[in-house]
Amino acid sequence: MAIDKTSKVYVAGHRGLVGSAIVRRLQKEGFENLVLKTHKELDLTRQAAVEEFFQQEKPAYVIVAAAKVGGIHANNTYPADFIGINLQIQCNVIDAAYKSGVQKLLFLGSSCIYPKFAPQPITEEALLTGPLEPTNEWYAIAKIAGIKMCQAYRLQYKWDAISGMPTNLYGPHDNFHPENSHVLPALIRRFHEAKVTGAKEVVVWGTGSPLREFLHVDDLADAVLFLLENYSDGSHVNMGSGVEVTIKELAEMVKDVVGFEGELKWDASKPDGTPRKLMDNSKLAGLGWKAKISLKDGLAGTYKWYVENYTS
Ligand code: GDP
Repeated sequence: MAIDKTSKVYVAGHRGLVGSAIVRRLQKEGFENLVLKTHKELDLTRQAAVEEFFQQEKPAYVIVAAAKVGGIHANNTYPADFIGINLQIQCNVIDAAYKSGVQKLLFLGSSCIYPKFAPQPITEEALLTGPLEPTNEWYAIAKIAGIKMCQAYRLQYKWDAISGMPTNLYGPHDNFHPENSHVLPALIRRFHEAKVTGAKEVVVWGTGSPLREFLHVDDLADAVLFLLENYSDGSHVNMGSGVEVTIKELAEMVKDVVGFEGELKWDASKPDGTPRKLMDNSKLAGLGWKAKISLKDGLAGTYKWYVENYTS
């Protein structure tokens, strides 16, 4: 059912990769009543502040895109932040949203909620069937708790809370930090800097053999709106592109997009992480949604954004 464009929509985390894409999409659709608060204006780890905010604003729809996120190295280095901050944010937002009378809430997680050795492609049913990948279990446990919280509030209060689990995302406004970011922005930055400085080689982490699926964040924003309008069930939904590449293939693609002409060198002392992480997207496809942006086009657009916004 189409959402009335005058509805008040709160996008938590609107400055991040995901939240900013959702805001762009909602604005393009003509939503005129968006509530957006910077981290400075509203610290989502502070329960009283979050409750006060919801009681004052009383949004009709909430999208939870606020989270402490990061790549394999960041997860290993800041485990307390990844579990603690994420649990705090989502508990505060979900509970305060319910209490303030929010009509519908969409909680976003990640494909890392699934067991390390889940059968591939990973269906929604694989949740909690085996041990997690140790390099991101802190974040994963928080996100699993978020899904369960949405389910529990739906069961106990008949409240319309849904959860979407995106695969690896990329696009404008990503975090391009050299160590703490995810692989795709990390490689864009490393190849770009190597091109600019005339370096002969670029070091890429791991063996290059892990497989990863990537979804452009504008496709994700499209799917978020689609789920808000078309899905009302407690079980979470995978959100992926169905397209996977090895890290080696990804590195070659980034090299080409950036135009770096030197060599690739692999640093096998760095962790590979989970060997393969492909979502089964048939549930979302069955509802009538599919991704539109190819990895090649998405990479080119993201590199352009990086050059225009990050390097000056
Ligand atoms: P993951 O999907 O949760 O494992 O997180 P990442 O995006 O951080 O890493 C994905 C894969 O890319 C892993 O196999 C990494 O070892 C590999 N990789 C290669 N180079 C890099 C890099 O520069 N940064 C990151 N974060 N990962 C890299």
